[in-house]
Amino acid sequence: KQQDQANPTNISEDISIENKVDSLLSIMTLEEKIGQMNQYNGFWDVTGPTPENGDAAKKYEHLRKGYVGSMLNVTGVENVRTVQKIAVEETRLGIPLIIGFDVIHGYKTLSPIPLAEAASWDLQAIKKSAEVAALEASAAGINWTFAPMVDISRDARWGRVMEGAGEDTFLGSKIAVARVEGFQGDDLSTHNTIAACAKHWAGYGFAESGKDYNTVDVGTSTLNNIIFPPFKATVDAGVRTFMNSFNELNGIPATGNAYLQRYVLKGSWEFDGFVVSDWGSMSEMIAHGYAENKKHAAELSANAGSDMDMESYAYVAELANLVNEGKVSEAHINDAVKRILRVKFELGLFDDPYKYCDASREKEVTGSQEIHDAVLEMAKKSIVLLKNENNTLPLKKEGQKIALIGALADDKTSPLGSWRIGAEDGTAISVLEGMQQYKNNQLTFAKGANVITGGASFPFELNINTNDKSEFSKAINTAKNADVVVMVLGEHAFQSGEARSRALLGLPGVQQELLEAVYAVNKNIVLVLNNGRPLTIPWADAHIPAIVEAWHLGTQSGNAIAQVLYGDYNPSGKLPMTFPRSVGQLPIYYNFKNTGRPSANEPNSVFWSHYTDESNTPLYPFGHGLSYTTFQYSNLHVNVVNTNTVEVSFSLKNTGSAKGKEVAQLYIRDLFASVTRPVKELKGFELVALESGETKQITITLTEDELGFYNNTGEFVVEPGDFMVFVGGSSNTVLEKKFKL
Ligand code: BGC
Repeated sequence: KQQDQANPTNISEDISIENKVDSLLSIMTLEEKIGQMNQYNGFWDVTGPTPENGDAAKKYEHLRKGYVGSMLNVTGVENVRTVQKIAVEETRLGIPLIIGFDVIHGYKTLSPIPLAEAASWDLQAIKKSAEVAALEASAAGINWTFAPMVDISRDARWGRVMEGAGEDTFLGSKIAVARVEGFQGDDLSTHNTIAACAKHWAGYGFAESGKDYNTVDVGTSTLNNIIFPPFKATVDAGVRTFMNSFNELNGIPATGNAYLQRYVLKGSWEFDGFVVSDWGSMSEMIAHGYAENKKHAAELSANAGSDMDMESYAYVAELANLVNEGKVSEAHINDAVKRILRVKFELGLFDDPYKYCDASREKEVTGSQEIHDAVLEMAKKSIVLLKNENNTLPLKKEGQKIALIGALADDKTSPLGSWRIGAEDGTAISVLEGMQQYKNNQLTFAKGANVITGGASFPFELNINTNDKSEFSKAINTAKNADVVVMVLGEHAFQSGEARSRALLGLPGVQQELLEAVYAVNKNIVLVLNNGRPLTIPWADAHIPAIVEAWHLGTQSGNAIAQVLYGDYNPSGKLPMTFPRSVGQLPIYYNFKNTGRPSANEPNSVFWSHYTDESNTPLYPFGHGLSYTTFQYSNLHVNVVNTNTVEVSFSLKNTGSAKGKEVAQLYIRDLFASVTRPVKELKGFELVALESGETKQITITLTEDELGFYNNTGEFVVEPGDFMVFVGGSSNTVLEKKFKL
């Protein structure tokens, strides 16, 4: 009502966003509405409807016509301004674009990969990391990130475990919230915050046999108790968008899944943001055998509640016809458009469409010291000390002859990990560079062997591992003369991430052979792992005295690793995912359920349910991680206040000589319930800093959120009865007590 007819989106400030949305919607044509539901990719010209028939003369034609509501992969203030200007100045209604990008662990300056960050168990630090990612991305014109990925996964073969928070729902939910809060801040309308996107809704991490995009078939209990909660937590934290997923879930592709999108997300959870499809996932329903053709895919997607089409070109081509034929109701279109406009208003794009397009801010913020400091802190916190015998670590700061071996030791790209599309390759600090700063030792470097064959750029080839051992002898000679050998081995950045599933999880290529060959001449080895997922390294665990899990740590990788190796930083990371002994154990996770055949003496074991050729236990359990000091847990007390409140307290002492931090972990087991419960479930943790000799009392309060579970009718219930509580520095806990609720 208060619109200026000449400039219809110039709606006065003092009316609510809902009124503004309704008001704008009321003057939109069907084509303009559908335009809002269409997202184009900046990698190619925006002529639509397919990139193949792109014609330079028609560049931006669809954008000019108002057929585009969002673009992804347009970055940099200048480029964003170009497309935004067309949307704002050349279309009839001047509705600004929302600009999306995969800011997964930073934009240009990269934090550790999300799985590594999860190993910090430091929610403040993780939030800060998302905050600085938003700061840098927003300064480059981006106002929407396709993150966080909150898919739980129990299968390290899946390449995208690097992008999530690991295997646990409780930890995963806390981290999901920290990331949403970090990206979105307190006020989405400020220019340094961006809209977040919880993805992939839903079940993507449960791809059968760890093969990306594969079938997902899971029961109600797993869906409700394991897969859904991190998503629900992001809705409660105010996440503004969701992305659906490529996989089918129990027979229905997620993109065409009305149960997921309309019934659960927008229905029960009352989510009022919008859902974007995954890249081409509408069209993929044809290959799934769920949609007959693209038009049918558009119909199924719109009716199921997919609000925006990323790269299927299905909505722009088919949706108007579908509405005219009565196959998709205009009410569904209106609902989708309202959701999209709502987020645009909240971002403040109608007030100032160029608020993310300040060239001087871009210059000042990109790669700033503040961002580098934050990613370095995060990188140090993400490192997990897996093993450290005979005080092999920390290294001495002088007088040691150190041989540094492994192609990943001087690699300046791999530490950036997968999802580094905003960053330039070669911009990470290598381990070699990090260690060279400690000048009082003699440091010699030999590659030994590459990880992958050269020249692989975006490899979907089946095998990119190298077989070349020609540089082994040089490395062996270097190792012979050293006091200590630091070997940096693991996965190249190309070996984890989307479409990078692996069937074998050992050190790729000839690296295991290199490790054994070096060990034959010098047993004093520190193995530093750079990788995007849990690896199977039983030989290394049995022979190598010190093993450091350093993941893909981002831009500051080498500095963080050097500080840990030299003891300038005492590691406190804990594994967010179980490390298996062998691939045959997968899926392996700490919160499994008992079989009907546990052993009499060990109620938590799975005595009869075993392999004849492999142990049931993992190589390193969930929650595992050592320090340069030691910790002791004692005095476990449980105070049942009422059926909704249980206070658990215990003492934690630093019994070593260095100061350090410990992630104290609390697990429970509901011993008997109407739906069988896992043998252990993480329900609380605290990151505790302790001086040498210091003791702290820790109290963790369990509420109904922690004590209850979803039954098979989807109801959240707390069932009084017998419970166990367990406390310790990993899921192999050291104290336990029974209590009655
Ligand atoms: C991925 C998404 C990502 C999208 C856009 C897809 O292939 O599955 O997670 O956000 O591409 O780059």
